Amino acid sequence: MVFLLYGGIRPTLSRRIILWLFTFGLALCQGGALAQERQPVRIGVLAYSGSEAALADWSHVTAHLDKALPAYHFSLGFYDVKGLEAAVDRQEVSFVITNGGHYVSLEAEYGVSRIATLETPDAVSPEQAIGSAVIARAARHDLAVLADLKGKRLAAVSPDAFGGYLVAVREFRRAGIEPEYDMGSIEFVGFPMQRVVQAVADGRADAGIVRACLLETMARNGLVDLADFKVLSPRPVAGFNCGLSSELYPDWLIATTRATDRRLAGAVATALLSVPPTPDGFSWGVPADYRSVHELYRELKTGPYTYLRETTLSGLARRYWHFLLIGFLAFAGWVIHVVRVEYLVYVRTAELRRALTARDEAEVRMREHQEQAEHLSRLSILGEMSGTLAHELNQPLTTISNYAQSLLRRQASGRLTPEAVEEAGTSIAAQAERAGGILRRIRGFSRKRAAVRDRQLLADIVQEAVAMFSGMLAHAPPVTVDNQLDAGAMVEADALQVEQVLLNLLKNAADAVKGLPQERHRIEVGLSREGAWYRVSVRDRGPGLPEPQRARLFEAFFTTKPDGMGLGLSICKTIVEAHGGRLWADANADGPGLTFTFTLPAHDTSA
Ligand code: ADP
Repeated sequence: MVFLLYGGIRPTLSRRIILWLFTFGLALCQGGALAQERQPVRIGVLAYSGSEAALADWSHVTAHLDKALPAYHFSLGFYDVKGLEAAVDRQEVSFVITNGGHYVSLEAEYGVSRIATLETPDAVSPEQAIGSAVIARAARHDLAVLADLKGKRLAAVSPDAFGGYLVAVREFRRAGIEPEYDMGSIEFVGFPMQRVVQAVADGRADAGIVRACLLETMARNGLVDLADFKVLSPRPVAGFNCGLSSELYPDWLIATTRATDRRLAGAVATALLSVPPTPDGFSWGVPADYRSVHELYRELKTGPYTYLRETTLSGLARRYWHFLLIGFLAFAGWVIHVVRVEYLVYVRTAELRRALTARDEAEVRMREHQEQAEHLSRLSILGEMSGTLAHELNQPLTTISNYAQSLLRRQASGRLTPEAVEEAGTSIAAQAERAGGILRRIRGFSRKRAAVRDRQLLADIVQEAVAMFSGMLAHAPPVTVDNQLDAGAMVEADALQVEQVLLNLLKNAADAVKGLPQERHRIEVGLSREGAWYRVSVRDRGPGLPEPQRARLFEAFFTTKPDGMGLGLSICKTIVEAHGGRLWADANADGPGLTFTFTLPAHDTSA
């Protein structure tokens, strides 16, 4: 019996054919007659290089088993990697013969279990039998070790070949090269593996991965000259006489499937162990330890450990780096865009805030100036009117004093009657109340304060202003109020400011009639409504003002009075307009004098 593994590391072609014919014929002769009674048992074989070569390699097994176990008829089925897996899955086969790499995948996926490992003469031991040689032409002085192959063209049989690819990939990685990414190119030339040698020899590839000992076998068969090639990163292993670039891994094996009858499995194992070595030194031994194959797959994250590759970030990053790059660039672009927009918004907001702050500050300053001016104006009116204030206060005080003295005199003369005390007390209280009222109004009016608006009865505001005016001026012209408003006529106003406007207008009217005959000393205040507006007018019978001067009435600092400030009317206009109204002056149509009118928005329910 002879073993010929794929790639032809063993005997020559002619011997192979003869042996195949011999064993196949033997099998036909022996098994043909018995096949009817014998129970058929199918062995699935991984056949990389076609079923004929595989049949030649493994037919000794069926021949021996048929002989050793006459109750069974063993046959071979030839499959590629996927086909053998499907056959196991469908329970088409009871045993599988495959290499160590494929075995660990089948073991993990389908629970196949090894019963014997091949023992080959080239191997150091059943655990150290299969390795890879990375070969290049001997003339390539630039190539000595695996790391020299960065960026170079590599040839190999197939990406899932064990000794023909994966074993070498592990060594490339250890040398700091990731074949998939760091090589200039990888060409998978397919089986038989001699094609790899051919690609290197032709210069189509700078280097190639082959199963260790392939080159030596080809040289023995006269197919190549060993001197034309060299093995990169050679690794001498005692007892292993082929060029080698990698570690050594366990050899091919035979395994049972989950469905295999246990007794049959035991009988087959026993039969295989008792097969005498072939003339070439091949035999079956106890199952080897395939942990080193597991380690290789785990390190490469392939075969049963492919899931590790899927889940590691670096693996994903390596695999999808172009998508990640695009994603990263898109993300970076988005971030830059967002940051730019945020920055622009920030800058614009800051500008706006500065502008607003400046405007607010200007507004606040203006309001303060306004309040300051209004306050001064009020003080000025008071100042102008307070010339007569002493006289005003003098009156009630004199009256109080007179009543008090009269009481004292009556007391002294014994004429003090309860009626006299009551009369004097009542009058004293009334006069004191009058004086107190004058002082209270002045204090309230002269207070410095911020504007406060609320809903007020317009008639009350006017009455209060008129009362104050009449109370403070000793010879104030009589003021009549013609109120044509409804009882609940409301304005949303700062009462004190509106009073201030009225006092100004009344004071100006009083000034205008000063020195004129008594019949012109009359001021008429009118309250009326016009649509959504209330109108308040102050009419005097003074000399009026010629047109050119009348146009300047509301200008600040316009005055015709020797001691005037010319601020009163301009402040009045500001106050009225701040309330949403208007202030103007008309010459009286039916006689001398001026009429000042201002409007305020109506704020009662009927508005
Ligand atoms: P001031 O009273 O300090 O002069 P105003 O702004 O109150 O300041 O008045 C400005 C000017 O308008 C007065 O100087 C006066 O010439 C004129 N004026 C105001 N009211 C009347 C009025 N009722 N009749 C005539 N002239 C007036």
